Amino acid sequence: MNVTVSNLTDHEAHWLAPYAMHSAETAGREHDEPLHPYRGPYQRDRDRIVHSSAYRRLAHKTQVFTGVKGDYHRTRLTHTLEVASIARTIGRVLRLNEDLIEALALMHDIGHPPFGHAGESILDEFTHDWGGFNHNQHAIRIVTELEYRYPEFPGLNLSKEILAGQQIRYKRRNDRVQCPPLLEVQVVDAADSIAYDAHDADDALELGLLELDNLLAVPLWEKAVRQVESRYTALDTKPFRRAVIHQLIEMLVSDLVESSCHRLEKSGVDSPRAVTQSATRIIAPSEAVFNQKTELEKFLFAQVYRHPTVLAERTIAGEALREMFQHFTQCPEKLPESARKRLEIDGVARVVCDFLAGMTDRFALEEHRRQKEP
Ligand code: MG
Repeated sequence: MNVTVSNLTDHEAHWLAPYAMHSAETAGREHDEPLHPYRGPYQRDRDRIVHSSAYRRLAHKTQVFTGVKGDYHRTRLTHTLEVASIARTIGRVLRLNEDLIEALALMHDIGHPPFGHAGESILDEFTHDWGGFNHNQHAIRIVTELEYRYPEFPGLNLSKEILAGQQIRYKRRNDRVQCPPLLEVQVVDAADSIAYDAHDADDALELGLLELDNLLAVPLWEKAVRQVESRYTALDTKPFRRAVIHQLIEMLVSDLVESSCHRLEKSGVDSPRAVTQSATRIIAPSEAVFNQKTELEKFLFAQVYRHPTVLAERTIAGEALREMFQHFTQCPEKLPESARKRLEIDGVARVVCDFLAGMTDRFALEEHRRQKEP
């Protein structure tokens, strides 16, 4: 048996579309490394991410709902896995590089602090004078500096395409005029949005923050309901809800694939370079679905993300982070040794911010409780 990376190169040459990113065309890594005998560069990136401690901690970090209310709802890790699953499906239909897609998807939320966006705004507020805090930017810091797994270099030494893909997530908010990223990056962004629209609605229903009937005011949801009703009669509430969520994802993914295929054809892009030079993103829903999706998101924002229960949990979490930030900046000697080592390089505010951002929800609450003990 002769298994080598050249098998992968042949397989990609045969299978991938011309506009897909081929592993053989990678710009490489910051620190040169010999090729692996049988894993391609993006497979190695995926494995490095999966074996990182920041990735494992996603299991105990809030997506939208903290662990106070049972264990049905998504964590940051299960959200990440749903994004990877949806993104790979889309990538395979469009004959894109699934290894690259998977690595990008598994990494995309690795920079999230505990307590979701509440945690992020608190850390951003506290580090305002030192450049602020953004989870997308922090993800890059984790994989280039903070993870320490290899004696030869800091970080994970990921392929440049992975770093560029993550960088664009950060820049997107700050820079309105920019070239579109690789299609693999665009697919992960689209899959992220489909995943959270569907699972945030599902989790909110399970937790009783919403009733099924409330969502009927949203045309996209109503359409999914009608399709489920045309197939099943008299389903109980829970199986019905799950069928609607499945239908919603199916509708969003199918529309995205169809509309993206259409744009691919129309744009005539025939290489990753042509993709990044095109005027707009190619992986996008149809205009009708985009508008309906926006309506669903507005609804979720008002009814779920601003729900008093969610806001109350955020306040508690925010307060814990605030107090711990003050505690550690006043007593940096209480930081763990790995963090203290960085004090001279990064300064106390950034080091404390990194340490807090790395905490899981439960570690943060436990540490906060310990600090409050007399
Ligand atoms: Mg996400």
